[in-house]
Amino acid sequence: MTSKMFTKILIANRGEIACRVIKTAKKMGILTVAVYSDADAESLHVHMADEAIYLGPSPSRESYLLGDKVIEAAKRTGAQAIHPGYGFLSENADFCRQCAKENITFIGPPVAAIEAMGSKSAAKNIMEKANVPLVPGYHGDDQSEVILKKAADDMGYPVLLKATAGGGGKGMRQVWNGSEFSEGLAAAKREAKSSFGDDTMLVEKYLTQPRHVEIQVFCDNHGHAVYLFERDCSVQRRHQKVIEEAPAFSMSEDLRSKMGESAIQSAQAIGYRGAGTVEFLLDVDGSFYFMEMNTRLQVEHPVTEMITGQDLVEWQLRVAAGEILPKTQEELVINGHAFEARIYAEDPNNDFLPATGKLTFLQTPIESKNVRVDTGVRQGDEVSVFYDPMIAKLIVWDETREKALQRLSKALSEYRINGVTTNIDFLYNLATCEPFAKADIDTGFIEKNHDLIFHNDSQTLANELPMAALYLVLSQAKNAELAAAKTHDPHSPWNNTNAWRLNEASIHPFTLSHNDIEYQVVVEQKRQGVSSYYLISIASEGAVEITLDCQGNITGDLLQVSIDGYRSHATIVHCDNRISLYRQNGVFNFIHILPDCGDSTSDDAHGGLVAPMNGTMVSILITAGDLVEKDQPLVIMEAMKMEHTIRAPNKGIVDAIFFKEGEMVDGGAELLSLTAEEE
Ligand code: ADP
Repeated sequence: MTSKMFTKILIANRGEIACRVIKTAKKMGILTVAVYSDADAESLHVHMADEAIYLGPSPSRESYLLGDKVIEAAKRTGAQAIHPGYGFLSENADFCRQCAKENITFIGPPVAAIEAMGSKSAAKNIMEKANVPLVPGYHGDDQSEVILKKAADDMGYPVLLKATAGGGGKGMRQVWNGSEFSEGLAAAKREAKSSFGDDTMLVEKYLTQPRHVEIQVFCDNHGHAVYLFERDCSVQRRHQKVIEEAPAFSMSEDLRSKMGESAIQSAQAIGYRGAGTVEFLLDVDGSFYFMEMNTRLQVEHPVTEMITGQDLVEWQLRVAAGEILPKTQEELVINGHAFEARIYAEDPNNDFLPATGKLTFLQTPIESKNVRVDTGVRQGDEVSVFYDPMIAKLIVWDETREKALQRLSKALSEYRINGVTTNIDFLYNLATCEPFAKADIDTGFIEKNHDLIFHNDSQTLANELPMAALYLVLSQAKNAELAAAKTHDPHSPWNNTNAWRLNEASIHPFTLSHNDIEYQVVVEQKRQGVSSYYLISIASEGAVEITLDCQGNITGDLLQVSIDGYRSHATIVHCDNRISLYRQNGVFNFIHILPDCGDSTSDDAHGGLVAPMNGTMVSILITAGDLVEKDQPLVIMEAMKMEHTIRAPNKGIVDAIFFKEGEMVDGGAELLSLTAEEE
C-alpha cells in the first residue's frame, strides 16, 4: 500500500473531540470540514474548521447519526477521509462499510474488527482462541438455566450475569450465592430483553475489588503493532469514567509488558488497524482479564499523549493514509504522570443529573506544558439538552503522581464556570481526598468514599466559617478602598466600611449558610496599633456559640488567615452571593444570605416537565388523571448509561403523558402536562 497524506478531511463529530482533531489536522497542513446541526450552527468546531456542512435539526438522530448525510458532505467538499471521533458513528460498521463503498477513507479500524467486538460473547470467543486471559466464566450457546447455574456453582460465588448484547451496565446482575441465582437470572434476562431484545447471558466470576486498567494500542497496515502503555480508569460513577490517569499506579514493569502484549494479541486477533483500547479488569492479586475492546479513539487519550509525548490523532491520520507507525515499541517511553478530569454540566448532588444552560462566565486555568484544556465551548455558549453534557477535559502533567495531583487540584480551583451547574467541586473534592492521594483506588472508589467526597454533615467548619466571614469583611474594606481612591477625597471617613461607630465597636453581622444550615456570624473589628484583628462569634441552632481571635489578608484570590493562632489559607471564588473556599481538603461553599433578599439557593432545578436530555423513557410511574404531590417521582428516563428520575415541580393533576415506556425522547421535549393545584 502506498501512502499519501490526505489534503482534506471531514470530522463527523462535534464539541471538544471535533476541535481536538481539527487542531492536529491544522498542524499537519490538512484542510478540515466540520458538520453541524441547528444547535451547533455557531459552535467552536464550526468556526475552527476551514469549511462546514449543515446536517440537520439538533437531535443527533436527525444530524450527527445520519451516515448518508455525512458521506454526502464529504463528497460535496472533496474530503478524502472521515474522522468519526468517539460516540456517534465511530463504532458503526455499516457506516464504515458505506465509506469504503464511496471510496472515502474511514479513519478507524476495518469493518470486520468493529463487528468482531460488537458482541461480548463473540469477542470473548475470539480472545479465548488468541490466548488472551478472560474473567473465568461461561459464554456458551446453551442457555438452559441448569447449565448456567452449574457454571456459576463450579466457579464459585459471587458471579456476575451479563447480557451478551449488553452495554451501559444494563442486563447485569451480581449473584452472591446459589439460592439467589434463579431470581437474579430472571431479572437480568428481563432487563436484557427489554433493553436489547436479546436475553442471551454469560456468567462471569464477579471480582469484588477490581481496577479498570486499559491499554492503548496502535496497528498499521504493514504488520506493526505497539502499545502506548496503560491508563487507570477505576474512578467511575455508575460505570462511567470520572478521573483517569496514566501510567497506572503500582504497576510493575513485568505486569505492564504482560498487559501490553496481551492487548496487542487481542488487536491482532481481529486484524486491527489504527487506534484501539483494550479494557481489562485488574484484580488485587495482579491477575488481569479482558473485558472489551473499544475500536476508536477514547475520550481519555490525552493522558497517554502527555506521558508519551505523542499526538495520537496524528498517528491515526498517518496510519489511515497508509504510513507505518511513527514509533517502534522500543522507542516509546513513559515520561512523568498525567491526570484527566472530565468537566461536566451536571449536578453531583442530584444523582449527576445533566444540567443545561448558558455559560455566562467561563474562565479556564492557564494552559502550559503542565496544563491542557480540551474543550469545544466558549463563554456565552449554550450547553444544550441535545448532546453529551461534557464541557471540557482538564489534563495535567508533572514528573510524579504526587506533583501531577497537586497540579490537578490547583487547576480545578482555577476553573470558573457560571450559568450552568458543573461537577468541578465534586472533582476537586475527589482529587484532594486522602484515599485518592494514597491511590487506594478500585472501581468502588466513589461509593466507598462518598461521605468524604460529598462533605456530608459530619464536616466541621471550625476554620472555614470564620474564613468566609473574614473574607467578607476584608473584601468589603478592599472594595471601599478602591471606590474611595476614585473619589475627590479618598481619605474621607465617609468612605469607611469598617462599621466604625462613634463610641461603639466595629461590628459586622452576617448570615452564612452551608449545606442548608444557617450560621449567624458576627465579626468584630478591633485595633491594635496600626493593625486590625477580629473577634468572630459563630452561632447556629442548637450549637454553643464560639468566639475566635482572627487575623487575615487577601492577595488576589488568596485569603491567608490566622484563627486562634492557626495559620492557613484558601483560594476564594466569590460570585453573586456564593463564596467558595478551595482548601487542601476540598471545597467549601457558603451562601451569604442577605437581609430581605431571601435564600437565593432555593433551587428551581425541577424546572418544568421537559426532558433534561436526549434519552429513553424507561418507566412511567403515574397515569393521566393522577393527583401528584410536589417532588413525587413521575417518570424515569435513561440517558448516557444512567437513569434520571423526573419529579413533579409542584402539586397537580396529570393531564396527559406524551411518551410510552421504551420510546426515545429528544432533550427539551415535553414529557407530560400537569395542571398545578393550590397547596
Ligand atoms: P458495559 O458494556 O455494560 O459497560 P462492561 O462489561 O464494559 O459493561 O463492564 C462495565 C464495568 O462493570 C467495568 O468497568 C467494571 O467496573 C464492572 N465489571 C464488569 N465485569 C466485571 C466483573 N466480572 N467483576 C467485577 N466488575 C465487573
